Amino acid sequence: MSRANRIVIVGGGIAGLMLATRLGRTLGRAGAARVTLVDCHPTHLWKPMLHTVAAGTRDVAHTQIAYLAHACSHGFTYQAGRMSGLDRVRREIVLEEMEGHDGKRLLGERRVPYDALVLALGSQADDACVPGVRDVCHFIDSQPQAQAFHAALQCESLRSAVNDDALRIVIAGGGTTGVALAAELSRTFALAAGYGDPQICERLKLTLVERGPRLLGAFPPDVSASTQDQLERLGFRVLTETRVVCADRDGFYRDDGQLIPGDLLVWAAGVKAPDCLRGIGGLTTNDANQLVVRATLQTAQDERIFALGDCASLTPEQGSSALPPTAQVATQQAAHLGRHLGAWLEGRAIPPFAYRDPGASLSLSGYNAFGALGRFGFFKGGIVRGRFAQWSHAMLYRRHQHALHGYARATVLLGAEKLGGLRGPRIRLA
Ligand SMILES: Cc1cc2nc3c(=O)[nH]c(=O)nc-3n(C[C@H](O)[C@H](O)[C@H](O)COP(=O)(O)OP(=O)(O)OC[C@H]3O[C@@H](n4cnc5c(N)ncnc54)[C@H](O)[C@@H]3O)c2cc1C
Repeated sequence: MSRANRIVIVGGGIAGLMLATRLGRTLGRAGAARVTLVDCHPTHLWKPMLHTVAAGTRDVAHTQIAYLAHACSHGFTYQAGRMSGLDRVRREIVLEEMEGHDGKRLLGERRVPYDALVLALGSQADDACVPGVRDVCHFIDSQPQAQAFHAALQCESLRSAVNDDALRIVIAGGGTTGVALAAELSRTFALAAGYGDPQICERLKLTLVERGPRLLGAFPPDVSASTQDQLERLGFRVLTETRVVCADRDGFYRDDGQLIPGDLLVWAAGVKAPDCLRGIGGLTTNDANQLVVRATLQTAQDERIFALGDCASLTPEQGSSALPPTAQVATQQAAHLGRHLGAWLEGRAIPPFAYRDPGASLSLSGYNAFGALGRFGFFKGGIVRGRFAQWSHAMLYRRHQHALHGYARATVLLGAEKLGGLRGPRIRLA
């Protein structure tokens, strides 16, 4: 009797969880393959909402998905662990030792065998080796990091209220994460004023620092200018063409030696794939640790190893640059591989992935939203703003929910999420 192929997917983010769900429903349930998802965290959260968790405008209890439960009901298995190595000869991934809640060794190094391996480990902000950044800055790349920032924000807010002192928050990085977090923080403090601290907005000193000549370099200049204008009207100080060369407990230092003082520092600049991927198993990676893949999403050196989403670098045949690290790219790549991996295991070729660019969108909390329309369709290259842009931004997440839960369940979950939101205060106070 031939044994079912083992498909191992590492990383249960946007791309990885979507793929595991689809393959579990199709190949897993039919017994045609054994699908395993590995992730270092126990729950999945739609990453583009991390800034709302950090700012305290969203309670993760209403939105996170426990991998174990989702796997059980979708025909795949979940294994907790952090990948640290790859043995291509034995076709095994290596999971590093795991510590228990008391810091003691819980599990030794483990190995997980595969017949097909999909790497979907995502990305994180790149500290670019700027001294001090790793030690004193918050990062907003994962749920624990967003929650840690929120806990620190609550402490600093209390200190500022009791001492009637300024609360200085400095965000380095004027890309999507930095800008979205800045707008969300403004909203948090506007709402907090209604919970017994009317002076909070006056004590708040928010600064957004960007190295380049404008915010949101990946968007059209119009969107950058409108965003800067909006943030300044909300009371933000926006510093462009400002290079941070060092950070310590007092704040960020610019290249001219000036200090940008801050009580809370956030690093949201640059993007790189996890360090464990650099040169892993002899596979080709670029300077941002991304695995270089062919149009079939297979790595150049090993056709059994695929990479998707932010941790992959794919330059389309007709394109001059690699696809950007966005939720849209991750979603489309997962859907493509989900359609063709089963047939590949039976010996058929995977057709080349073609990215359909729907454009980029950005939400400035409830204040505004922008959408740069993509290269396809009647309105190609245009910009939308306001309610329509807000709606199309929200639709990205809704589509992700539909892919994971099916239309009916996703609709019920949306209703439950909205009702759950009515139960408590509009920001997290505890
Ligand atoms: C605050 C914020 C706002 C954003 N807003 C937008 C937006 O508006 N529009 C947009 O298109 N994009 C946005 N993005 C980018 C978008 O979130 C990413 O492009 C997308 O999440 C990439 O999906 P992915 O599946 O490649 O990786 P991820 O969703 O990051 O998932 C990676 C997974 O891998 C796991 N993992 C990592 N390392 C290991 C390891 N060693 N072992 C095991 N598991 C591991 C992680 O726990 C995680 O679950 C935003 C990002 C942030 C942080």
